[in-house]
Amino acid sequence: MTELEQRRRAVQTALAGHKVDALLVSSPANVRYLTGYAGSNGLVLVTPSETHFFTDPRYALEASESITCKLHIAKGPLSEAVAGIIKRKKLKKIGFEPAWLNLEQHQKLKDLLPLGASLLPIPGVVENLRMTKSPAEIDMIRKSVRVNSEAYARTLRRVRLGMRERDIAAELDYQMRLHGAEKPAFDTIVAAGAHSALPHAHPTGQRLEENDLLLIDMGACLDGYMSDMTRMAFLGQPTKRARTLYDAVLEAQLAGIDAVRPGVTAAQVDAAARGVLKKHGLDRQFVHSTGHGLGLEIHEGPRIGKKNKTVLQAGMVITIEPGAYIDRVGGVRIEDTVLVTAN
Ligand code: ZN
Ligand code: ZN
Repeated sequence: MTELEQRRRAVQTALAGHKVDALLVSSPANVRYLTGYAGSNGLVLVTPSETHFFTDPRYALEASESITCKLHIAKGPLSEAVAGIIKRKKLKKIGFEPAWLNLEQHQKLKDLLPLGASLLPIPGVVENLRMTKSPAEIDMIRKSVRVNSEAYARTLRRVRLGMRERDIAAELDYQMRLHGAEKPAFDTIVAAGAHSALPHAHPTGQRLEENDLLLIDMGACLDGYMSDMTRMAFLGQPTKRARTLYDAVLEAQLAGIDAVRPGVTAAQVDAAARGVLKKHGLDRQFVHSTGHGLGLEIHEGPRIGKKNKTVLQAGMVITIEPGAYIDRVGGVRIEDTVLVTAN
C-alpha cells in the first residue's frame, strides 16, 4: 500500500467512529495530503470503501497522471458532481470540514443533496492524522529547513547599515528560491530597532541603523512542506540591555526544547519556556504561544500553548519560539523547528 492509500485508509477507519457515511474534504492541504493534488480546485469524498477526487477540466491532464483514487473531472460546479456521487452511492450522513466549507458552499451543497441526506460538521479528522509525520514527510521538512537556513546565512553576510528592512526581505526570498524553495512559507518578517517589538511586523522602508536589534522570521515552502525559523542579529556591539533580553529568551527556548519528548503535553512544553521568562520578569512580555506544528501548512496542530492538552508523540514536528517584546524598545524571538523522536 502506498503512503497515500494508507492515509485514505486511516480516514476511512475514522469515519466509523464519527458515525457518518462519508467525509467531504475541502481543505486544500487535506486534499493534497490524501491525493497528492496541489492545484486550487479540488474536493475529496471519502466513503468507507472508496475515495473520490473531483476537479475541473483545467487539471484533467495533471490529475489523470497522478491521482490514484477515483477521478471525476466535473464540467460544472464540483459540488454538483459530489452530490451526484452521494446520490448514486445512497450515502446519508455526510461529514464536512466546518473550517473549510463556507456558508455559501454549505448552502449550495445542502440544496443539491438527495432527499434523506444531511451534512454534519466533523472537524479535524485529517488534521489529526497530519500531526504525526511519516519518514518521507520528515525528510521534506528537513530539506525545507535546510534551504531556509542557507538563505538566511547567505543573506546575513550581505546585511549592511543603511539597508532597508524591505531590501533584506527581498534578498531572503530570492535566496530561498535560488536554493530550491517554491515560495516563502509566509510573508517574511524583517524588523529592525523598535519594530522588532511587533511580533508580526511587516518589512518597511526603514533603514538599518547602528545599535539596532534585527529580527528575521522566515520560512520556505519546498514540495509543499514548510519550515519556520526566527533569528536575531545586532548592528554593532550588543548593548547590555539587548544581550540580557536575548539571553533570557534563549534560556527559555532551550528549556522549551529540553521539555520536548513523547508523552508530555503541549501545555507542559509551553510552561517550561514560559517559566523561564517569568523568572526573568518577562512573562508579560511573552504575548503568544510557545510554538506550533508545521507541515503542509505553516501553522498546524499541535499548538504549543498554555491550555493545549495534546500529548506529544514521536513523529510530530513543532516549532519552539518564545519571545519577549518591549514596547518602543525592541523584541527578541528565537525559533527553531523540532522533531519529536522516541528518545
Ligand atoms: Zn516563524
Ligand atoms: Zn512559527
